[in-house]
Amino acid sequence: MEKGNVIHEGKAKIIYETSDPGQVIMFFKDEATARNGEKKGTIKDKGIINNKISTYFFKLLKDHGIDNHYIGTPDARDMLVKKIDMIPLEVVVRNVFAGSLAARFGKEEGTPLSMPIVEFYYKSDALGDPIINRYHAIALEIATLTELNEIEHLAFSINAILKEILGAKNVDLIDFKTEFGRDEKGRIILGDEISPDNCRFWDKDSKQKLDKDVFRHDLGSPEEAYQEMLRRLTE
Ligand code: UDP
Repeated sequence: MEKGNVIHEGKAKIIYETSDPGQVIMFFKDEATARNGEKKGTIKDKGIINNKISTYFFKLLKDHGIDNHYIGTPDARDMLVKKIDMIPLEVVVRNVFAGSLAARFGKEEGTPLSMPIVEFYYKSDALGDPIINRYHAIALEIATLTELNEIEHLAFSINAILKEILGAKNVDLIDFKTEFGRDEKGRIILGDEISPDNCRFWDKDSKQKLDKDVFRHDLGSPEEAYQEMLRRLTE
């Protein structure tokens, strides 16, 4: 499928029109940013690896009954997906204290949570993606209560599925970010990507980080961490 006009260019992906108005191509870039664009860099072959890892997770989730936008992987950096009306929320699921949650509550990274939690962040680069609650989301008409309930239900289901699969690969799922959209019938389906760019993956034994924190905090070679994650999933 040929790429048409650019619909949107984000920090990690470019979205292109295709000849089918119901489908778009997500092109995965190697560029990496952290702290809302303050730190910039390139992770060699990140686009290829993230396309492969996202393909793996989207197929797996579909097999487990989680509807998502994935259609196919026509090229190394291209994913063909259903065009959906994206809801401007970052939906974060957490199993363990890390990152901004650890900082907010003064907890040591790696402290387990007594149950998984979901958080909503309003997607706005200008505002720095502020954390919001359900009342904000409803009052700002970002999503309805019914939609938020569905999003939460899906987010927890995705967490349970990913945790189990990753556990078998000796990886702990610390937290991850998802985004959802509405399909042509108004149903909520999973979009965006699921990759080391937006998940925290730790080796179960050594607690070694196999995700973007390696880039964010200069902890070694991000390329190697991403490659290792791909190897664990596909071998
Ligand atoms: N995350 C993301 N995009 C963002 C912010 C966070 O994909 O703009 C992911 C991040 O990779 C982690 C989870 O969401 O898996 C929770 O991130 P956190 O709120 O701890 O923020 P961070 O420490 O990354 O600033």
